[in-house]
Amino acid sequence: MPVIGDRSVLVINDDRMMNHQPDIQDPFLPGRLDRRVREILNGLAVQWRYPEHPGRLSAITQRLNADPIPGVHVETAEPATREQLGRVHTSAHLREIERMRGKHAWLDVDTTAVSPGSIEAAEVAAGAAIAAVEAVCKGRAQSAFALCRPPGHHAEPARSRGFCFFNNVAVAAAHAQQELGMERILIIDWDAHHGNGTQDIFWASPDVMLFDTHRAAPFYPGSGRLEDVGAGLGEGTTVNVPLPGGSGDQAILMAFREILIPAAAWFQPDLILISAGFDAHRLDLCLNVSYEGFAAMTEIVQTLADRHCEGRLALVLEGGYHLESLSQGVHTVLQVLAGGEAPTPEEIGLAEVAAASEFHKTAFISDAPYSDAPSSDSPLTDAHPPTQL
Ligand SMILES: [Zn+2]
Repeated sequence: MPVIGDRSVLVINDDRMMNHQPDIQDPFLPGRLDRRVREILNGLAVQWRYPEHPGRLSAITQRLNADPIPGVHVETAEPATREQLGRVHTSAHLREIERMRGKHAWLDVDTTAVSPGSIEAAEVAAGAAIAAVEAVCKGRAQSAFALCRPPGHHAEPARSRGFCFFNNVAVAAAHAQQELGMERILIIDWDAHHGNGTQDIFWASPDVMLFDTHRAAPFYPGSGRLEDVGAGLGEGTTVNVPLPGGSGDQAILMAFREILIPAAAWFQPDLILISAGFDAHRLDLCLNVSYEGFAAMTEIVQTLADRHCEGRLALVLEGGYHLESLSQGVHTVLQVLAGGEAPTPEEIGLAEVAAASEFHKTAFISDAPYSDAPSSDSPLTDAHPPTQL
């Protein structure tokens, strides 16, 4: 019988990631479509707020402090170095980001803004992902969860996109390959959005497999088609599972069981990384995953890590913008990582209907109040009465 606290879990969190405080009023750099974006923002009926704000991390921390999980301990991180970031980003991209240090500005029309603390926050986020793989590869913890902010999986080799500056999970994978002796790395991206940046970075790499469930185009960022399987030596190591809006536990778990499990057995990873977004939760309105669904997904990836790579499993936070489902989602995943049992997800409402059915079941079978009610031996007893149209 699994017990919470059986397994050691390291959470990486660092207050410097709270200093990334983008503001939609920040100007664009000259020539960066400022007027066009202002027109769009001003035309919205409800004022748009930057959804990737420091309150995301404080909601998670408050939840963990209110209900601590045995076996989980927390450490801070060091900022990633230029050399570590340069393994997956171009030097031009790193120069561009460096130029933004200490400023208020938008980097890209694609919702990426900076505040004076943003560049250090982004370096610490990538460093947190590195700390997570260091911990599991050196055996200091059985699994690790880096609470990265800003997130990373939309960041491309040469471009910040979708709230992301550096591709944290890719930086961690490259570090594990170059410094920690990990040859083959499986990245599982269960964020509701496609990990376009991660896909780009490892598109032709045979040693990094990306398995990505996401809401299908035209949902942001619009990439991640089924047919996109990588190229060159990396052909076959990109595995996309695009899903329609509203897909929930059963669909995602079917993808995990029928595609991910055999893919992992074929690939034989030395390390498993998760791009763990929580915007697939039903409160975030992108997909329809429940907390039990996240728990079941965690149990599967943990089993895969135990089976193929001596348990080495590191999670990196991506999206998740509804503070309740984000914080409760992280808490749920950590409980399973710490050894807790994952409940079986059920279609929402079925248990309630079963209870209601039990409650009402004697109400309509005796002392029929209607004179034209079918008698018990009528063929209509087990069917709907004919309807007059
Ligand atoms: Zn997302």
